[in-house]
Amino acid sequence: MRIGILGGGQLGRMLALAGYPLGLRFRTLDLSPEAPAGQVSELMAADFNDTDALKRFARGLDIVTYEFENVPVDPARFLSRRVAVFPPPEALEAAQDRLTEKRFFERLGIPTPAFVAVDTWDDLKTALNDIGLPAVLKTRRFGYDGKGQVVIRKTEDVSGAWQSLGGVPLILEGFVAFEREVSILAVRSRNGETVFYPLIENHHRDGILRLSLCPAPGATSELQREAEAYARSALEALNYVGVLAIEFFERDSHLLANEMAPRVHNSGHWTIEGAEISQFENHLRAIIGWPLGSTATVGYSAMLNLIGTLPDLRSVLAMDNIHLHLYGKVPRPNRKLGHITLRTTSQEARDAGLTRLSQIAGQSE
Ligand code: AMP
Repeated sequence: MRIGILGGGQLGRMLALAGYPLGLRFRTLDLSPEAPAGQVSELMAADFNDTDALKRFARGLDIVTYEFENVPVDPARFLSRRVAVFPPPEALEAAQDRLTEKRFFERLGIPTPAFVAVDTWDDLKTALNDIGLPAVLKTRRFGYDGKGQVVIRKTEDVSGAWQSLGGVPLILEGFVAFEREVSILAVRSRNGETVFYPLIENHHRDGILRLSLCPAPGATSELQREAEAYARSALEALNYVGVLAIEFFERDSHLLANEMAPRVHNSGHWTIEGAEISQFENHLRAIIGWPLGSTATVGYSAMLNLIGTLPDLRSVLAMDNIHLHLYGKVPRPNRKLGHITLRTTSQEARDAGLTRLSQIAGQSE
């Protein structure tokens, strides 16, 4: 079976790597001929809006999926007339616009931070009156890894925030003084079978994910149930197929949805070694319609992103319980170059290993 992946980044690369033991073959489509998935799959370098390229890409494929959520919706729809495309392009559409996404959560009764659409300077002033300070001004589209957003803490910050982001459709959100950030990865297959991974605790810096812990320390079964109920209603509303990640803020032992990603997710990289079946394999099983695999954790995992530069790899590999993944990318500031998963048999050992690992790799910027 041959699977096409829109996007040739590290997520596409890890999907392909998970699929080879299952006898699957992969073709990826990316603007860049240097895309990391090209090292492990047949890579076509073309623009997503080039319909001739899309036709050539689709030839001989059984299923098409995507590995980043800013794939334009029209090419996904175009392909879906030729070959099965999962997750459904509607999910892509819902997740690409922060306003549509928040309204989608709201419609399903999933709590979110307060939010208001902002298109003009007057809208912004009215929105600030409604929401109050502090607040976060974000572009509705094409924001990721903290890009396209500004925190407004005091009145003097307002015009600067408008100057840096104004001119495109925006959303103003109430700033949530959360206790922590968590995410859930939900998987739904073509025949409706649904499974969930345990809640993951995430630590961001400058809007970029640095560290994920699973199981999330102290996460109660009530919190897990709440996350699963929200994720299930999103899966069903979208008739979803594949892995869906939802990121939440935890406050007062309850969850507020921040955003969702209709794809495998950085906060699930630990599943390669830390779960019975990884998010990448389960995504493939789901889109093919094969039975889903167990999401049970194997030990205690911590996943550390390697961002911008690489640490001394010999020191990293000299540690116990370490699994190193490099994506074959040229180092550049703020670029995700790889990740390390530390998997241990106790939470204490994870904490101790993480302290050591942070000394070696935590400086990576
Ligand atoms: P996002 O791109 O929306 O995921 O935002 C990146 C990061 O910015 C999040 O992971 C949070 O750490 C922070 N952030 C985003 N929105 C809010 C908010 N409404 N309140 C507090 N922090 C936020």
